[in-house]
Amino acid sequence: MIGISKYQFYDTHAHLDFEPFTDDMPRTIDLFLNAGIKQVMIPAVTRDKFDRLINISASNPNVYTIALGLHPLYIQSHTLSDLDYLETLLCTKDNSQIKAIGEIGLDAFLMHLSEEKLFKKQIDFLQKQLEMANRYNLPVILHSRRTHHVLLSILKKITVHRGGVIHGFSGSLEQALEFIKLGYKIGVGGIITYPRANKSRLAISKLPLESLLLETDSPDMPVYGRQGKVNRSECLIEIFQALCTLREEPAKVIAEQIWETSNTLFH
Ligand SMILES: [Zn+2]
Repeated sequence: MIGISKYQFYDTHAHLDFEPFTDDMPRTIDLFLNAGIKQVMIPAVTRDKFDRLINISASNPNVYTIALGLHPLYIQSHTLSDLDYLETLLCTKDNSQIKAIGEIGLDAFLMHLSEEKLFKKQIDFLQKQLEMANRYNLPVILHSRRTHHVLLSILKKITVHRGGVIHGFSGSLEQALEFIKLGYKIGVGGIITYPRANKSRLAISKLPLESLLLETDSPDMPVYGRQGKVNRSECLIEIFQALCTLREEPAKVIAEQIWETSNTLFH
């Protein structure tokens, strides 16, 4: 341990609106607060989660911020009326806990999603949600698997004024730098705890510290050594420790900078 409890952390991506977290919300919160995780961003994946997310964050406003959006993995089920509903919620003035549009993006990792018709629908829903982010002056939380080049070309066409984050980044230094040049942050997750993830570990070690955020992607993406188990927000500490071994800055500097970057992005 490296004296981490004196730092504050922001888990910038955790699906705590899923089981098992919702079964015992007070305990879920206790566990991550005790580990030093002071804030958690919960991004939505489908329309049927929107109201639940608003309720969760309204009951725990000091620990949870939320993002609403339509995730590319569920592209088959999304409809234009889901987008209308999203916009209705964004228009509602007292929904100030909505700090971003997400989780949105592109996925070509699963074969059926990369078929022409569905991939076109993914691009269409992504573009519409990027434009919506600008209409409501919000940043975006982006998912990208095997689609960095297509995503980059779209982000060059549609400038999101508040920027956003490429969540759970996995890729090369060059790709990360291209996203950063466009004003995006890089979400650092459990992948850097895996010794074999050389390309991503190298990229994260060389990126500007101000471009990094930390995230668990709970309940998915377990850290190394916990494969097959439910990932939880408190595991962010292990990702932070792995990050410290990759970076030259002292732990204190890393923790403080990332806390500030996270709060600035989702203010
Ligand atoms: Zn996610």
